[in-house]
Amino acid sequence: MNYNKKSIEDIDVSGKRVLCRCDFNVPTKNGVITSDKRIVAAMPTIEYLVNHNARVILCSHMGKPKNGPAPEFSLAVVAKRISELLGKEVVMAADVAGADAKAKAAALKDGDVMLLENTRFEKGETKNDPELSKALASMADIFVNDAFGSAHRAHASTAGVADYLPAVCGYLVQKEVSIMGKALANPERPFVAILGGAKVADKLNVINNLLEKVDTLIIGGGMAYTFAAAKGYSVGKSLLDETKIDYCKDMMAKAEAKGVKLLLPIDVVIASSFPSPIDGPVETATVAIDAIPDDMEGLDIGPKTAELFADAVRSAKTVVWNGPMGVFENPTLAKGTIAMAQALADSDATTIVGGGDSAAACEQLGFADKITHISTGGGASLEFLEGKELPGIACLQDK
Ligand code: ADP
Ligand code: MG
Repeated sequence: MNYNKKSIEDIDVSGKRVLCRCDFNVPTKNGVITSDKRIVAAMPTIEYLVNHNARVILCSHMGKPKNGPAPEFSLAVVAKRISELLGKEVVMAADVAGADAKAKAAALKDGDVMLLENTRFEKGETKNDPELSKALASMADIFVNDAFGSAHRAHASTAGVADYLPAVCGYLVQKEVSIMGKALANPERPFVAILGGAKVADKLNVINNLLEKVDTLIIGGGMAYTFAAAKGYSVGKSLLDETKIDYCKDMMAKAEAKGVKLLLPIDVVIASSFPSPIDGPVETATVAIDAIPDDMEGLDIGPKTAELFADAVRSAKTVVWNGPMGVFENPTLAKGTIAMAQALADSDATTIVGGGDSAAACEQLGFADKITHISTGGGASLEFLEGKELPGIACLQDK
């Protein structure tokens, strides 16, 4: 994949209608935005377009509306927030690419801004329906993709629309692609990847691709237990994907054959049940990985493992981390994740963190400013890391 893509600075936007796909998938509670981080992050691109006299048509998905338009998934709250940050009116369309959106887009003057309704109100969005892509494209002269978090999905508003318009990236996508592209196309070695978290089935599949690229692969978090099972250990009530045990055996053999160091937990922190509430009190014990009792579950890496993993990070020149080492939401079970975040923060290597929860962990624990790059895209950064082509990036013009 070519990582050198044209950006908004490489195309004349003045007087043009610019359809800009953003990531306004913000958390809301009772109709109120609880974190506007993603909106704030999108502002440099929006401001550039406004300051360069574009007629700006913003769009995004928010949440997962299943049956068409629903007020609780309306982007009207987002339009209001952008308007406050921008200090000018943001016109809200009543639909995605229907009569109202088209009329409002046609009425835009240079420097005006409007926001389309939630792209997932249209069934064609996730199906990448050419009819929707054409309808979106018909409102604009240029397509700008600034939604890295959705770039691994071939949807109408993330990729399909680029079939009908010249397409370039915004600042957010540009930053993601240039930093990760540089780090991953030709990584400084040793290159260490750390995988953890709970989306075991998804992330196990990544391992096969990563073994082609890295010098060391570290596995912690929930997915470590399927490896432990593959080694013949009993894992009690820990997260386990029984259908992937043979796959894990293959991966261990592949790592060995390729000379890739595959580091797995040697000790783990266990409890008799998952804490409820998640940050509530929990009684734990630390045991060797081959000594998990049947009625217990592993919820964090142990101190010896944290030391082993941190050592590997210390000697690395490039580190990519996706997925917490344990149930970091609970202070008692956050120690392994804190140890890894500390190791990345202390390292001089290029350090990249992807994944919603991993990024949140780095931020909550106060390490964010010591990481080279925290990716806004969980799934997207993983696919990027695997060397897969992301439809939302591949569709943009090369420099
Ligand atoms: P990310 O969002 O960084 O990609 P995931 O969504 O895959 O990460 O996983 C994050 C979740 O994994 C956290 O909520 C954390 O509590 C959970 N987790 C980590 N380790 C374990 C474990 N051993 N057992 C159960 N859940 C775990
Ligand atoms: Mg997550």
